[in-house]
Amino acid sequence: MHLTCAECKNQVDLSKNPELKVEDIVECQTCGMTLAVTALAEDGTVSAEIVDEGK
Ligand SMILES: [Zn+2]
Repeated sequence: MHLTCAECKNQVDLSKNPELKVEDIVECQTCGMTLAVTALAEDGTVSAEIVDEGK
């Protein structure tokens, strides 16, 4: 599976999330953005949206 960060466009390491599923929360290691998984494609592409934590 691979996920491109919606904020910084870098690849997010999903190795710690082997059971990743829709609505899971992952954090971009590059920019620290919190991302919510919105879709898992059959080809392994993960889609995610930025979570607004209200900071
Ligand atoms: Zn990022």
